[in-house]
Amino acid sequence: MKEIVVVSGKGGTGKTFISSNFLYYIKTLGIDCTGIDCDVETPNLAQALGGFKNIRYRRVAMTGRRPVVDYNRCTLCRLCESACSSKAISVKEFYVEIDYEKCESCGICAILCPEKALRMIPYPIGEIVYGETLSGVEVFTGNLFVGGKNSGRLVYELRHLARIEKPHSSIFVVDAAPGIGCPVISSIAGSNIVLIVLEPTLSSIQGAIRVQEIAKNFNIDCYAIVNKYRGNGESRRVIEYIEQRFKVLGYIPFDIRAVLSYNRSRPIIKLEPQSTISKFLIEIFDKLLDILRL
Ligand code: SF4
Ligand code: SF4
Repeated sequence: MKEIVVVSGKGGTGKTFISSNFLYYIKTLGIDCTGIDCDVETPNLAQALGGFKNIRYRRVAMTGRRPVVDYNRCTLCRLCESACSSKAISVKEFYVEIDYEKCESCGICAILCPEKALRMIPYPIGEIVYGETLSGVEVFTGNLFVGGKNSGRLVYELRHLARIEKPHSSIFVVDAAPGIGCPVISSIAGSNIVLIVLEPTLSSIQGAIRVQEIAKNFNIDCYAIVNKYRGNGESRRVIEYIEQRFKVLGYIPFDIRAVLSYNRSRPIIKLEPQSTISKFLIEIFDKLLDILRL
């Protein structure tokens, strides 16, 4: 079983576009593949593959823990208030107020409470949906609830569950969140290959370098695809820099049909298999399959 994580240092570079087309392509080759959408704040991998046609299951993820007060025990001694470095607890005249927006779920208050009046209890932070999309590709999706925290933990649970449910899948393609936050680190840890999707712009390159550093720290091979490439539109120095800094698998030309296919929730290599952009994509995907030895 191989796991490739598709990342980008910043949003809007076409990460889900690449993930969905790669999944669709390897599915057409008869390779048993599974998509995992770890962009849990804005999941859209399943949508890019046509949306779910069969949902195998949907369940709430209870991975968060937060303190609750047992007023049969609490003496309003204020120890929890002074112990909470997040300033999430404020003891009033008759009750203890906990601001869950500020609470970091560290559990210190529950450990220190002399009356054992605080207990850390699980609460729902999101849901996990697993099903088959209209393109035939199976996808696991994490969906963080509004205001939900601990997205890294939800990503961990999602990947763990996918491995249990699909032990015979030859490859997992993980569509990670943009940026370099906790959910991205949680997506990368333990994978085989990191694939960075970047644009030939300064802000995208900066983000890509940051995410490349994370992959290096985990000792994971890292490759790059340059998306929205305009041929002569970029400065030569920018392209030279990208070539020096990253192992570039290829360049995807800017093509408005890519946007249209995405809007229609269809992989472009399904919608327009003869287009130039589809040919570029397939060339890159074949290189990836060689690297993955699939
Ligand atoms: S430390 Fe325990 S007993 Fe004291 S105020 Fe907090 S919850 Fe109540
Ligand atoms: S769990 Fe930690 S952050 Fe949350 S209220 Fe208790 S001490 Fe504060």
